[in-house]
Amino acid sequence: MDLTSRDVHTALCTVKDPDLGKDLVTLNMVKDVRVDARSVVISIELTTPACPMKEKIRRDIEEAVHARASAIGAEAVSVTVEFTAQVRASASAHASNPLPAVKHIIAVGAGKGGVGKSTVSVNLAVGLARFGARVGLLDGDIYGPSAPTMLGLDELQGSIRNEMLLPFEVHGIRAITIGKLVDPEKALIWRGPMAHGAFKQLALQTEWGPLDYLIVDLPPGTGDVPLTLAQLLPLTGSVVVCTPQRVAQDDARRAVRMFQQLGVPVLGVVENMSYFIGDDGKTYDLFGRGGAEAMAASMNLPFLGAIPIHMDLRRNSDEGTPLKNWTAHPALAGDLDGMCQRIASQVSIATIQGGLLQPTLSVTG
Ligand code: ADP
Repeated sequence: MDLTSRDVHTALCTVKDPDLGKDLVTLNMVKDVRVDARSVVISIELTTPACPMKEKIRRDIEEAVHARASAIGAEAVSVTVEFTAQVRASASAHASNPLPAVKHIIAVGAGKGGVGKSTVSVNLAVGLARFGARVGLLDGDIYGPSAPTMLGLDELQGSIRNEMLLPFEVHGIRAITIGKLVDPEKALIWRGPMAHGAFKQLALQTEWGPLDYLIVDLPPGTGDVPLTLAQLLPLTGSVVVCTPQRVAQDDARRAVRMFQQLGVPVLGVVENMSYFIGDDGKTYDLFGRGGAEAMAASMNLPFLGAIPIHMDLRRNSDEGTPLKNWTAHPALAGDLDGMCQRIASQVSIATIQGGLLQPTLSVTG
């Protein structure tokens, strides 16, 4: 007896996406099934190219198809799983959205300055793009923009087309920052309404083009800009960056409460400067590793990963070369990728929980 595509379909109904908690058929992730006498080829469309569960899904599919084959007494078959990815838009990306071509807007906030919010924003944007997503970075820290330095924009000239700002296309992402529109030496003093206007212009008068993720690096604290952002754009969620110390946790809790008060889901907490690895290869626990993770747990929030203090992270930020964070140190690259994957995964979870199962184009490769 030979295995049929109906059998394969039955098998796939038993395989769950571990993050999304539903089976692949219900989630509309099965894009194609080809069966012949001895082989089965299955195309699965992931909800993000940064899916952390890809290999587990592959193994679970193989097991389920083999189990089905043996249950019906079919000959052994080879199973090949091919993956494509299509980020699904949030339910909030409706027609009144001023940026309809942007599928997800993710705010990165922190209770106070200096904890690495911009570092996390830049590496999240570049890291998601490395996985193959279309990513924008809005440097919304209008009081202290870091993107010109961290992305190495100093020598680049901004340009405008049809009264829209063109984002800088660097390191695989599209980025915009007020830092390239004002004198770098000038103090950026904004009254509330001016801050609102400046942020709004950056967000809405930039020609972003189609994006899977727009990362917004917010100013530290709980001021005007997060409020403007939440009123202006439908956010999929926010990421709170925190260092492990107790005092940093207290500030981060306030940032969490602010997002919650603004009705912005909190996707989770990143622990930056979690520990330090010395030249001797030893790990030093400078600030109380795990503090932000414990804070996340106590607030019932997902933990999105720990980033160590790493000299290269600081150096590559100062030199505007973020891609180098992935080249010299596999462990650091792994930490950054892990953070990007957990955040992408939380975005997919938020989208599915938002009840949207958009039909997507069938693309098999
Ligand atoms: P924030 O946006 O919260 O004010 P930044 O991202 O600008 O913080 O980081 C402040 C400084 O600390 C920068 O010089 C940055 O390069 C450095 N930094 C941030 N995170 C790390 C880290 N994990 N390892 C080394 N240096 C870091």
